[in-house]
Amino acid sequence: MKAEILKMLTEAQDYLSGQTLCDYFHVSRTAVWKAVRQLQEEGYEIEAVRNRGYRLVKKEDIYSGTGIVSALKTRWLGHHLVFMEETDSSNNQIRRLAEQGAGKGTLVVADQQNAGKGRRGRSWLSAEGSGVWMSFLLRPQFQPESASMVTLVTALAVADGIYETTGLDCGIKWPNDLVIDGKKVCGILTEMSSDMDTIQYIVVGIGINVGIREFPSEIRETATSLELCLEESVNRVKLIDAVLRHWEERYDAFLQKMDLSLLQDDYQRRLVNVENQVRVLGYSEDYVGISHGITPTGELIVELEDGEVRKVTSGEVSVRGVYGYV
Ligand code: ATP
Repeated sequence: MKAEILKMLTEAQDYLSGQTLCDYFHVSRTAVWKAVRQLQEEGYEIEAVRNRGYRLVKKEDIYSGTGIVSALKTRWLGHHLVFMEETDSSNNQIRRLAEQGAGKGTLVVADQQNAGKGRRGRSWLSAEGSGVWMSFLLRPQFQPESASMVTLVTALAVADGIYETTGLDCGIKWPNDLVIDGKKVCGILTEMSSDMDTIQYIVVGIGINVGIREFPSEIRETATSLELCLEESVNRVKLIDAVLRHWEERYDAFLQKMDLSLLQDDYQRRLVNVENQVRVLGYSEDYVGISHGITPTGELIVELEDGEVRKVTSGEVSVRGVYGYV
């Protein structure tokens, strides 16, 4: 009820009477008052005027679970939300919830991660108040070998969401990073728990640098944030809603064909590696070639100097530009 009241107050042009809220929720005036008090304690400035009702004074971004729930316009994703001021890693948190039986679409949003994760044990800087650090849970029916495509689906959806919210056009560095001007603005980490042929669950983790103004020296040359690119503040709650709505849409397109054929053109349009020289860094070998985009199942097509064409599977390798990160 609290999130719904917040939503109604956000959308209302004028005061909302206590009676309207009581009738709507079929509860007492005291129950409405209690919910309003809780919202005030979370930081929402709500004015209460006798004979007129309640009014939200400032309709701005307060980063809270209630704020996110009231803003989400998704069909199913994030309808069970766990908001945390601080956690080790939102992926770890989803894993713990998954082990306890949490359902498909459960979303964890953290304002700060103390042990944010990148791929293969690398770390992800996720300071307080400066990013969207979130993960959600999937319990799909498809085979484990299809799971890597979810990373590409997610990259495209996050780019859509960032574009809708800020007008910024992100490039995709195959398979899992979003870049602006050659610098990483978002990383995606997909993890899976499975047997040989059954997926128990998939965790999709998304880290978007929103308000970080200064990066540590190790990543200063390769990292950026939306606010550094835009020079104005970005509403994280709106960004989450936009990313998740686009994700549902892109995921439907993926499920319809069980591959990326409906998404390939859009993905490729954003792919920074396309028709460029890339360096593929594998476990046992590194090589350079020209990338020709992706296959319908998400592998990167790389043509070597001698004409051999390889299909590179994500997970095994990192791809870099020949002269730098992109
Ligand atoms: P790959 O191409 O294999 O994905 P990567 O270096 O991009 O390689 P990731 O696992 O995607 O690796 O991301 C982790 C790396 O990203 C870290 O090792 C660090 O270099 C960098 N990094 C960490 N935090 C951030 C951040 N908030 N923004 C941008 N880059 C970061």
